[in-house]
Amino acid sequence: DQLAEKHEYQAEVNRLMDLIVHSLYSNKEVFLRELVSNASDALDKLRYLSVTDPELLKDGPQLDIRIQSDKDNGVITITDSGIGMTKQELIDSLGTIASSGTAKFLKALKESQEAGMDNNLIGQFGVGFYSTFLVSEKVVVSTKSPKSDKQYVWEGQADSGSYTIREEKDPEKLIPRGTRLTLYLKHDDKGFAHPERIQKLLKNYSQFVSFPIYTWQEKGFTKEVEVDEDPAEAKKGDDDIKTEPKKKTKTVVEKYWDWELSNETQPIWLRNPKEVSTEEYNEFYKKTFNEYLNPLASSHFTTEGEVEFRSILYVPATRKDDITDNRKTKNIRLYVKRVFISDDFDGELFPRYLSFVKGVVDSNDLPLNVSREILQESRIVRIMRKRLVRKAFDMVLGISCSENRDDYERFWENYGKILKLGAMEDKENHKRIAPLLRFFSSQSNDELISLDEYVENMKPEQKDIYFIAADSLSSAKNTPFLERLTEKEYEVLLFVDPMDEMAIQNLSSYKDKKFVDISREDLDLGDSNEEREEIKQQFSQTCDWIKNRLGDKVARVDISNRLRSSPCVLVAAKFGWSANMERLMRAQTM
Ligand code: ADP
Ligand code: MG
Repeated sequence: DQLAEKHEYQAEVNRLMDLIVHSLYSNKEVFLRELVSNASDALDKLRYLSVTDPELLKDGPQLDIRIQSDKDNGVITITDSGIGMTKQELIDSLGTIASSGTAKFLKALKESQEAGMDNNLIGQFGVGFYSTFLVSEKVVVSTKSPKSDKQYVWEGQADSGSYTIREEKDPEKLIPRGTRLTLYLKHDDKGFAHPERIQKLLKNYSQFVSFPIYTWQEKGFTKEVEVDEDPAEAKKGDDDIKTEPKKKTKTVVEKYWDWELSNETQPIWLRNPKEVSTEEYNEFYKKTFNEYLNPLASSHFTTEGEVEFRSILYVPATRKDDITDNRKTKNIRLYVKRVFISDDFDGELFPRYLSFVKGVVDSNDLPLNVSREILQESRIVRIMRKRLVRKAFDMVLGISCSENRDDYERFWENYGKILKLGAMEDKENHKRIAPLLRFFSSQSNDELISLDEYVENMKPEQKDIYFIAADSLSSAKNTPFLERLTEKEYEVLLFVDPMDEMAIQNLSSYKDKKFVDISREDLDLGDSNEEREEIKQQFSQTCDWIKNRLGDKVARVDISNRLRSSPCVLVAAKFGWSANMERLMRAQTM
């Protein structure tokens, strides 16, 4: 084409192109995500400008993305009716490093090469438009900006240091507004042009782009057609009577091609929570996270102010993974401006121990090419994390306050250990975790109680929250330590899970009430000491005698007023390990 102007790429683009074209990066499919997100950006820009300048839409009011693919020839076209590009914009955008993400990619690449590392940086950064060359031999971009009355064509080849720009003259190829990309796929990548493959990728990456994405799909419908009955068949009938040839109906499949909407244009999280039904939340959850049971709870919220994002969080009905297993759980799906970014996090968005909570988060404040490194350093992410955690705890608190006690029992069965782990690890959220904990108690038979229930049931003169740890519920209930407290009708928490005591030690108090281990020597039940002193005197020789007999096995033999029917009990020293902790330690070192 004599009219095409040749342009050289900026040196950095050359370097980038070289890397992309020759990369062994296996996740090539990201090209589609990048192109769809560019189309979506272009539509966003147009939508934004048209608010003040409705004239911009005069060439076509519809804002959409259409993807057509020809699997036989390995060609994909992606057309958007967005803002398009002028000739100068084409040169500026598709000949230089326009995107800051791409610039960061190059910088990271340089650093990693200097460090002698071979990182898969393409995937981490997302290289924007140039990622088309992961799969394409040749790319043609035909684009029309409302600012210009001409349509321009950019054309680039893999493995060439230059591109061309010409005016679109072919009337068949003129578009009213927007951009059409035509990708001529490399021989080995032609499989990407399968319409079903495209649809599948869109489901994965762009399910929630807020503009409709149509794909060109082959469809079929069945219809009944009348056919003449086979003469041989007819013969078998009454052969003397001459009749018209009999008619018979047959079902045939009629094939045709048509545009098919391939995404949900309105992501559920962008809708008003008042207008979304529980069934819709549940459906979305099951579809998104491949679950078959409805969640125990969900929470849909928007935060505004310093950092804006929308989110829906869920508590799954059952726990599949083991908490001691530190695998990443893909529990939070991050979207930036409705484009799916990643679900591969490791505590950046959510503390690890809470990774049983599943959900989606959509932020307008993060860059589309956000990487793990960016996430780790981002102040925005830190704020998001805080809010997500708070909402997650609110959601769990909601279950615990529900009329239906079974719900929380179910939750506790699945996630109780995780909350205890949180009480041990996550100091920042102690106050949120404490009301969610549940324990057996000396007064509740086999039902678990909350700390709030305990506090409510405290005697007026009672200052502390009492507990005893044991290796089973029955030994906890039968311990002599309980005798005095039971007499005074003080409730005692019975810790039978090894984690109970450790969790409580980290909390140390609840609503200003200290946790007190009733097996410790200095238990103070507020009794007068007079009587005790007298008895002490009376029995001092007996105590000495017992101490002599036991020798080093005990530190001291003392008179106590904590027993009622049992003659004696072994108590732990004020400091140091409780008997239960000793048991645990022994179990661990064995
Ligand atoms: P980024 O999207 O991060 O800016 P890209 O490499 O993906 O980086 O795209 C570079 C630029 O090319 C975009 O910023 C935009 O100006 C332009 N561009 C790409 N695709 C389109 C499109 N479909 N419509 C209009 N402009 C586009
Ligand atoms: Mg882009």
